[in-house]
Formats: sequence, C-alpha cells, structure tokens
Amino acid sequence: MNTVNDKFPFNDPVIVVIIGGGFAGLSVVKGLCKKSADLKIILIDIKLTFDFLPALPDVVSQNISSQFLQADLTELSRRWNFEFICEEVKAVSLVDKCVSISNRTIVFDFLVVASGSQTNFYGHDNLKQNCLVFDTIHDALVLSEKCADPQWKNIIIAGGGYTGVELSSQVCAFIQRKRLNKKVLLLIRSDNPFQFLKQNQNKYTYNVLSKSGVDIRLKTEVKNIHDGRVELNTGEVIENALTVWTAGVKTPEFIWNMGVPITEQGRIMVNKQLLFADYCFAAGDSSAFEHQGNFLRMAVHFSCMEGLLIAQNILRIIKGLPLKEYKPFDLGYVLPLANSQACGIILGISVWGRIPLFLHYFMCIVKTLGWRKKWGIFKELIIHLRTYEKTFS
Ligand SMILES: Cc1cc2nc3c(=O)[nH]c(=O)nc-3n(C[C@H](O)[C@H](O)[C@H](O)COP(=O)(O)OP(=O)(O)OC[C@H]3O[C@@H](n4cnc5c(N)ncnc54)[C@H](O)[C@@H]3O)c2cc1C
Repeated sequence: MNTVNDKFPFNDPVIVVIIGGGFAGLSVVKGLCKKSADLKIILIDIKLTFDFLPALPDVVSQNISSQFLQADLTELSRRWNFEFICEEVKAVSLVDKCVSISNRTIVFDFLVVASGSQTNFYGHDNLKQNCLVFDTIHDALVLSEKCADPQWKNIIIAGGGYTGVELSSQVCAFIQRKRLNKKVLLLIRSDNPFQFLKQNQNKYTYNVLSKSGVDIRLKTEVKNIHDGRVELNTGEVIENALTVWTAGVKTPEFIWNMGVPITEQGRIMVNKQLLFADYCFAAGDSSAFEHQGNFLRMAVHFSCMEGLLIAQNILRIIKGLPLKEYKPFDLGYVLPLANSQACGIILGISVWGRIPLFLHYFMCIVKTLGWRKKWGIFKELIIHLRTYEKTFS
C-alpha cells in the first residue's frame, strides 16, 4: 500500500468502488472521469445496462422504444475509461474495506453506494411469487407483452403511489389504443387516494384517471393470488387477473446487513457531505439526506446532484481539501398521465395540463445519454402525440 499524501493511506492508484450504474452512480463516474485524477474506478451493477426509470410506464404503453432508454454499461466503460463488473453485490465490509460479489471480494479506498431501490413485498411471499414487479426496462417490456395477452382480462395495479398512478394511466391508454377488452384496476389501501399530492392535484388526478377508464378502488388490498385468481380484502374475487405490485420500495439486501443507520425503507442516513462512514458515501434512492425536517424524496435530480458532489468530495479528500456540503435545490415534480395531461409542483408552483407534461418529457430528453437516443425519444413522442390526438379527439 502506498501513501498518496501524508494524511491518507490509500492504494496507488486510489481505488473507488461504485455500487450501482443508475443516475447517481453514473454521475459519480462522470464527475471523477472528467477530472483525470490518478484513480481506478470500478463500477459494479447487477445489470448490463443503465435504465432510464422515469420513462418505464411509456415502455409499457409503447410510446417510447426501450432501445432509447437504455445505455450499455460495457460500452460506456470503454468511452469513459472505468472498469465495469456486471455482478450483484452481496455484502460490504466497512472494517475490511471490501465489497463481496459472487466469487471474490474487491477492496476499495472509497466506496459509493448508489444501488437505488427495488420492489418491497413486505414479507408477503405469496404476492412475491404471483405479482409482476416494475423496477427495470425488462420488467416494463414483460408487462407490455402480458397486457396484450388475451389470457388476462383484468390488469390490477396494487399501490397508488407515483408509480402506480403513472402505470395505471399508461396501461389504460395502451389498452384503449390497441382496442383490447380489458379492465384496469388501481388498488389503494387508504380511503384517501394519492396522499403524496396536494389536495387540488389529488382531485385532478382522480378525475383524469377515472375519466380515462381506470377503476380506482379505495380501502382495497390484495390478500391472496392463485393461478390468476385474485382475492381482495373486500371479499371480492377477480378472475383472469394480472397483478403488478407497486405498493412500496426498499433498498437492496446488502445495505440492511451493513450495520449502519438506515430508514424504514433501508436508505442509508448520510451527513451533510453525503458520508455515512470514513471514505464511504451514499447517493440517490439508497441514501437518506435530511432536508427541512424530511428525507429528500427519490428523484433523478437529487440522485444526479448527489453523485456529482460525491465525485468532488472524493477528489477533495485526495487533495487534502475540506469537503463540500450538499445543498439540495428542489426543482419540484411532475406526475405524467397518459392522456396528454400531467400535474405537479414546479419551483413551488402548482401546475396542470400539458405544460408539466412537456417539462417531464423535456427532462427525459435532457437526462438521456447520447444524442441519437435523445432524438429517438423526441421523434417517438411527437408521433405518439399526433396518433393520440387522431384517436381520441
Ligand atoms: C416508474 C418510475 C417513474 C419515475 N419517475 C420519475 C420522475 O418522473 N422524475 C424523477 O425525478 N424521478 C422519477 N423516478 C425515480 C427515479 O427514477 C429514481 O429516483 C432514480 O432512478 C434513482 O437513481 P439511483 O441512481 O439512486 O438508482 P437507480 O437509477 O435505480 O440505479 C440503481 C442501480 O443499482 C443497481 N443495483 C441494485 N442493487 C444492486 C446490487 N446488489 N449489486 C449491484 N448493483 C445493484 C441497479 O441494477 C441499478 O442499475 C421514477 C421511478 C420509477 C420506478
């Protein structure tokens, strides 16, 4: 082991291991690769691709082709000059400063946990075995194919958070466009739908979804599923039903076993510099940054900004400079709905209709990697909008 400066004993070159090649992880890589410090950057991801998650519902409805929403991490590693390992991280030892994958361990000087979040079944094994999840582009493609399968007469979306709302709306639009004879049910556990929205937006979303044909069921949960037969807590049984579980997320298993403070969802509590242990950072959905009395919500903007700040702080530690604090700036959020509508809060202002929808897709185009993909998304959205106008006007 060599010493990079008098204060910090690091390997030479310094090894930075990043777990997760999503928005946060790739922002760290980008920030580090740009400043050509003498670093060995290792990115580990369970998938071969970066998936653009905000457009997953558009993949289901076939508004946007999946080819424009994925980036090949192997190809990126060649272009940006980092090492990519396609493996699942099973464990992290903060004491031995190493990460375990299937058949070996990888040591690190700096660790960045940016492994996002995944579906949480809250321990319901029956539901886990019988529901579809909605975490990746692959999941969206599977769902799109199954929605078109005549075997399924009912599509049940269990969970009315952001993902459940967007998905039910897109599935409904898809079914109508393809003129399929199916029902879409959105199940919500509480008696007040969409609690994450302000009251007026809550009403707006309820009306838009209902008008477009989504059957919203309040105080309703899935109890049991057997062979496409879904039993609800209300006693009703729905036959020939395909169920998608969107009722909650949690972080990957290895985080829960790391022995560091985490939230209920398993997000790692980080300090102002995004550190949770010596030389160990967390970013994006896997991290819980406290801001104005709440943890930041899971969003692309925060993930990217956190990733870039972590890259800066790694370089500052190496140079012996004081660390920068993360000062989040909330741009707001948009809830896109399939019938060319959307609502949300942008820079603190409530917005409805087409403007937020336009802003959502603008964000998708801006954040997508590569000009060819940006152009592809733009073209498909224009075609889709024109088809939509013709079909439904
Ligand atoms: C349907 C949907 C719609 C959304 N819409 C919006 C929106 O409109 N606007 C917005 O701001 N946000 C939206 N979000 C949230 C946003 O996508 C996330 O906040 C963002 O993707 C988080 O980035 P991340 O880098 O933390 O995680 P991710 O982008 O999820 O990346 C995590 C990476 O870690 C990898 N990984 C996980 N576990 C392991 C492991 N054990 N070993 C190795 N690799 C692992 C995964 O394969 C993945 O590539 C949406 C999310 C979903 C699901």
